[in-house]
Amino acid sequence: MKVALMAGGTGGTKLAHGFSMLDDVELSVIVNVADDLELHGLHVSPDIDAVLYTLAGLIDSQRGWGVANDTYTAHAMFARYGEPIWFTLGDADLATHATRTRLLSEGTSLTDATASMAAALGLRSRILPATDDRCRTVILTDDGPLEFQEYFVRHRQEPEVRGVRIDGIDDARPTPSVIAAIRQADLLVIGPSNPVVSIGPMLALPGMREAILGVPRRVGVSPIIGGQALKGPAARMLDSLGHEVSAAGVARIYGDLLSHWVVDMTDAELAPRIGAMGVEPILLDAIMRTDADRARLAGELIGIG
Ligand code: GDP
Repeated sequence: MKVALMAGGTGGTKLAHGFSMLDDVELSVIVNVADDLELHGLHVSPDIDAVLYTLAGLIDSQRGWGVANDTYTAHAMFARYGEPIWFTLGDADLATHATRTRLLSEGTSLTDATASMAAALGLRSRILPATDDRCRTVILTDDGPLEFQEYFVRHRQEPEVRGVRIDGIDDARPTPSVIAAIRQADLLVIGPSNPVVSIGPMLALPGMREAILGVPRRVGVSPIIGGQALKGPAARMLDSLGHEVSAAGVARIYGDLLSHWVVDMTDAELAPRIGAMGVEPILLDAIMRTDADRARLAGELIGIG
């Protein structure tokens, strides 16, 4: 069974972990790179790293980012040099960014760099950056335009969001590996990630929607449960941008891109509205509290359709 899963750094990543635990699943995780950044001369890919670390069992699961039990000697030294330290990089994490940057500087694509790092960490699943081209999400706020990580980390998601722009998207393309993974997929899943800043930039890549629509079973999992995000700014962002903050509101954003929309059982009353959009609602326990929950939800998605 070939599964292509689109993911950002938190919800989608947990689901990727779930699929990776299943036998007989060949998993390709298509990952957002529009919130990448350059820091200390290094190329940092927060969403790719979240997937890499999670699948390798290295993630700091309390925080949801970085390597568990990492040390911060380099961080303290950056501070002494007066370098920006608003984005915390642990020592082990730094090795990831340095290795990626070295590979990129030698002309290796982000796709190949990621593949070689995933192989070195012993991963079976494929981690595919959505694009090898540079595109960057810019959050338009009352404080002016902010690069995504500046908004997210430096400004702690405090400024009111007025709009979102993805610089470079018109010239960016999905990679051939991404298109091939989608074309070959028996099941395409849009993970429970932020629809605006994690999934949105991937869907905005020219040709991405057409490729997805070629897969008969296209299942999305709602990142909004009971009108709230479990983590991060998704709910507030949806509200500020004029979307209904509910599983039905997110279903409307994806529209006919999906054949099935998984909502948490607590949102059962939304099912008729989702069905009326031409998308089949599926009620499941969509909260992944434990590793077992992740594998259970992934297994249930395979059974849909
Ligand atoms: P980011 O890159 O760290 O912002 O993370 P994502 O975009 O991947 O995910 C953020 C979304 O994941 C939020 O809307 C959360 O509600 C959602 N999320 C996190 N954990 C879960 C979960 O266990 N189940 C579901 N359905 N959504 C989740």
